[in-house]
Amino acid sequence: MPAAFSATAADSAAQYLVRAEPWYHPVGDEVAHFEAAAASRMPMMLKGPTGCGKSRFVEYMAWRLGRPLITVACNEDMTAADLVGRFLIDREGTRWQDGPLTLAARIGALCYLDEVVEARQDTVVVIHPLTDHRRVLPLDKKGELVEAHPDFQLVISYNPGYQSLMKDLKPSTRQRFGALDFDYPESAVETAIVAHEGGVSEEVAGRLVQVALRSRNLKGHGLDEGMSTRLLIYAATLIRSGVAPADACRIALVRPLTDDVDMRDALDAAVATFF
Ligand code: ADP
Repeated sequence: MPAAFSATAADSAAQYLVRAEPWYHPVGDEVAHFEAAAASRMPMMLKGPTGCGKSRFVEYMAWRLGRPLITVACNEDMTAADLVGRFLIDREGTRWQDGPLTLAARIGALCYLDEVVEARQDTVVVIHPLTDHRRVLPLDKKGELVEAHPDFQLVISYNPGYQSLMKDLKPSTRQRFGALDFDYPESAVETAIVAHEGGVSEEVAGRLVQVALRSRNLKGHGLDEGMSTRLLIYAATLIRSGVAPADACRIALVRPLTDDVDMRDALDAAVATFF
């Protein structure tokens, strides 16, 4: 490998290191299980509802393993070129720019594709050759075959709750990954998380969690998803800033969740029970 390239790769790797320890409250054995998978660079799928801690977990694991982290928020407009790279034309002429997946493969990063199911299938297939024994990434347009750095590992997140015929991972993609289940943590743990992240007392955090539990029971009965840990932290943050708790719950918990008037009233009533 030419010295100039190594220096650039090392610079990039340093730039993507997670420097400060992210605060992560373990929920089960996920840290040990991920570490075991990471030892063999096994591609991993994190399954679970939105806002339950998957991204925070990946940041924490990247820090713990001392690996750079490159995150891509997937969406349906994303093309294969957005992942692998493209030729750009500038004043000096034409030059190739690596996409985030290529960069991660070169520098040995954890590459986190968040909500991968949002991406179109023709985009998702570019990860396939990186997830089997070949661990390569063909850059067809450039005529280069990138061999993944030994530390490269692919991690994807996936919310099975949004599963539909149009939006589901194909078995050919799924069966390339080990999978860890995530969910909203049990009440005591979620209370500790909301108190820590939102800067409120355990007593207030505990009441917010009780409101969330009521909403999660309504999943499938008029609600697509219950209130996430992320939303509880938003509500806690508003309360800490001096917003009246019932208003904070309306703003951060109820209104984002539903446009349906009856459902909104039912959730407001749940809030009134606790605040
Ligand atoms: P996801 O990626 O599943 O959508 P996030 O990781 O963004 O969710 O979680 C939302 C927020 O909830 C995080 O920013 C963090 O503040 C908090 N959180 C959730 N679970 C945990 C946990 N186990 N430890 C620490 N913080 C957590």
